Amino acid sequence: MLPVATYAAEVWGHRCAVTRAARPLDSAQRACLTGITGAYSTTSAPALQVAAGVPPLSMAVQALAARRIGLEQGEADLFGTHIVLPPGSTKAEWKARAEQVTLEAWQRAWEAESRGRTTFDFCPILEERVRLKIPMTPARTQFFTGHGGFDCQLVRIGKALAGLCPDCGVEDNPQHRLDNCPHFANERAEAQQAGLDRSRHLTLDLGTVPDAIWVRWSKDRTEEIKDMEARLVPLETSSSSSEDSDPDAPDSPPTPATRPRRACANGIAYVDIDSSL
Ligand SMILES: [Zn+2]
Repeated sequence: MLPVATYAAEVWGHRCAVTRAARPLDSAQRACLTGITGAYSTTSAPALQVAAGVPPLSMAVQALAARRIGLEQGEADLFGTHIVLPPGSTKAEWKARAEQVTLEAWQRAWEAESRGRTTFDFCPILEERVRLKIPMTPARTQFFTGHGGFDCQLVRIGKALAGLCPDCGVEDNPQHRLDNCPHFANERAEAQQAGLDRSRHLTLDLGTVPDAIWVRWSKDRTEEIKDMEARLVPLETSSSSSEDSDPDAPDSPPTPATRPRRACANGIAYVDIDSSL
């Protein structure tokens, strides 16, 4: 794909700094990365690129154009950086310098991005991901992006009401499964035994933890969620129950006293029929 997409890029590559020119390239890349990584189709392009460890195609094209120009003219502009290398610098040296400038620009864009924030929490430093040479399996990708069999994903696509863990009653997302949920205690113990170190960014442990554990950790809980939600009925609209939706509440299983009534992200409060009897 890249040789075709970058044909004569030194002539037109600079135009990829313009959104209208960049969008078709990034869109084509998104389709490819979705298939390669096994990501859900709802995964945003920025998260997908980080999961796969490749910069946006529009940026890669600009980098290629700059390094071809630099090799020929001895200097080139890339993402606001004027690059000058000593006369006689090789193709490999220009490639390395262009990649470094691209990584810095991609890092700035990743920090300013509003999408893919679950992935950002796991991977705020792109260099860590780029240096990691591991295959991104569907399980790793879904966990890393938060687009998988989680309650929060089911709410996103309209297949669940509340986005709550069936066991704990708090938002079900990768972080909850990773650090708190008792349902995944075995996975947590096995991953720690394999070398998972939660004092560092999760990116670094994508390869440390065997894929079989990621598969179990990202399992689809749709049926359990449906069972739980079948026991829940809408109680009232959200404003009167705001005391239950404290964003600073600890991410731990609720006590029986707090379990029956809970405000949810979609603005509906629920009562657990079993608990209220
Ligand atoms: Zn849980």
